[in-house]
Amino acid sequence: MRELESVLRRIDGRGYKAYREIERRRFRFPAFELVVDHVQGDPFAAPSRARVRVSAGEVRLPRSATASPARRRAARDFLARVFATAVRDHRDLAIDAGGQTVLDRSACLIAPDGAVELRFTVGLPAAGRRILGRKAWELLGSVLPRAVEAVTARRLDLDALERHCAAVEDQTDLREQLAARGLVAFVGDGSVLPRRSGVDDRPLEGAVPFGSPPSLRVELEAPNAGPVTGMGIPHGITLVVGGGFHGKSTLLRAIETGVYDHVPGDGRERVVTDPAAVKNRAEDGRAVTAVDISPFIGELPHGRSTHAFTTDLASGSTSQAAALVEALESGARTLLLDEDTSATNFMIRDERMQALVEKAKEPITPFVDRIRELRDRLGVSTVLVMGGSGDYLDHADTVIQMDAYRPVDVTERAHEIARTHPTGRREEHGAELEPPRPRTLDPRSIRPERKPGRIAVKASLEHLLLGRSDIDLRAIEQLADRSQVRAIGWILVHLARSRDARIEPLPVIHDILAGLERGEWDGLTGHPDGDLALPRAAEVMAVLNRLRGVRFSRG
Ligand code: ADP
Ligand code: MG
Repeated sequence: MRELESVLRRIDGRGYKAYREIERRRFRFPAFELVVDHVQGDPFAAPSRARVRVSAGEVRLPRSATASPARRRAARDFLARVFATAVRDHRDLAIDAGGQTVLDRSACLIAPDGAVELRFTVGLPAAGRRILGRKAWELLGSVLPRAVEAVTARRLDLDALERHCAAVEDQTDLREQLAARGLVAFVGDGSVLPRRSGVDDRPLEGAVPFGSPPSLRVELEAPNAGPVTGMGIPHGITLVVGGGFHGKSTLLRAIETGVYDHVPGDGRERVVTDPAAVKNRAEDGRAVTAVDISPFIGELPHGRSTHAFTTDLASGSTSQAAALVEALESGARTLLLDEDTSATNFMIRDERMQALVEKAKEPITPFVDRIRELRDRLGVSTVLVMGGSGDYLDHADTVIQMDAYRPVDVTERAHEIARTHPTGRREEHGAELEPPRPRTLDPRSIRPERKPGRIAVKASLEHLLLGRSDIDLRAIEQLADRSQVRAIGWILVHLARSRDARIEPLPVIHDILAGLERGEWDGLTGHPDGDLALPRAAEVMAVLNRLRGVRFSRG
């Protein structure tokens, strides 16, 4: 610590490069060790990366905080948030502590011996390009120790820590109970589903709390909270109907994000979803590579085959068909669709249109004619928001009507109406639906380098810049966090480095994700990195599938 102080005093006023003197050295403070892993090249570059290691004796986490993998993840998340709060007023210190979801992330790690490592960034202070050594010492010598103090036994709020761990463990456990109960999702009574705005993910104040309809009410047992009741959405085909503005999309959105755990107070702590649930939507303009969309879209005009469909500019319907096949390929067991983001001609083709445009001239087999096969042949459930077409009533196992934000079970009436108001449309099947055969990837078609030897991974929730490619992520709606996107970027770097001429990407991705779950974060970027969060394999594949110029072939 004294050494750090004397270096910073000595280089005060010198050129910025002199900060390099503190790089990769270990400085011992009374309560922790500090390592500055990377010093930024100049005051305007991305901030420097540093770590503190706080010994087990200083933190003294209660045993309950690490008693299960879910609790351990929650405890790490909690400590990162405590540190984030402690440095909130200091622009130059930042930690990647996450938003409303509790993800497995690299900002805080707990060593086997109980020591806690916090990874953060620090903007090393300068005036122009001159080092402000005294200010740097103020930052690292007093502000930092006070922030670290917040995660030690002297300051930690153990009740809040326990609430955090219990809430996360409950969500993980409830999610694991779904399959055995024959459910694809559970929405707990009292949940608050709507968000403040499209850019503010916190719960809407004054919202109507969720209440389950009696016929769909189930009771699950949470390990900490005990019995919880809510609406169980069963396997099979579930339709969410209702008038516009009655809360249909809000319910589906909550189900989409139910694959993740949420922080206490989020309102969605009792909303859990099949971890293999994937949102399916249209995204015209995207690239598609060698996807067999023939179950949904047959021969295109001029005899173009769709068994390995490739385009730089997909239409609404082809993009949605491709995304659906890609989701199945990546292991989706539940599909989530909203009419708001679906292509009409992909979803429906009604009696009159069947009469006007003969089947031979319509390549599309609408989703309505495949939804039962998905359930019966592939065991894939669907939750579909559809207020605009009754053609789906014939196929739905469960029909939920949203009425002023309250769900009503209208299954019986819907079946009655399906019987008494036949649609008169014919089912339009081609060949029977088969599970998609996995494609193989040419790893060299991923080019993560901007210049030779210079890997470039730059992430936001909307875009991934990988090498010279810009991948549009806005339609990958189950990405929760920018740091997941960064991790995905680095996973693609690993795929690119494969020495095989052809690989099947999904098993490799699962291997890498399993390593991250074991805590092997540093292997991903090659250096200690605090800005990574665990994605799902489905989102990694979704990003890879949108990379322009990627080469897949049908295996
Ligand atoms: P729909 O898909 O049925 O048209 P939305 O889900 O888009 O309806 O919801 C319409 C509006 O109602 C949104 O602004 C949403 O935030 C709000 N909303 C949804 N659920 C609730 C609720 N439980 N309480 C209060 N407002 C809600
Ligand atoms: Mg809607």
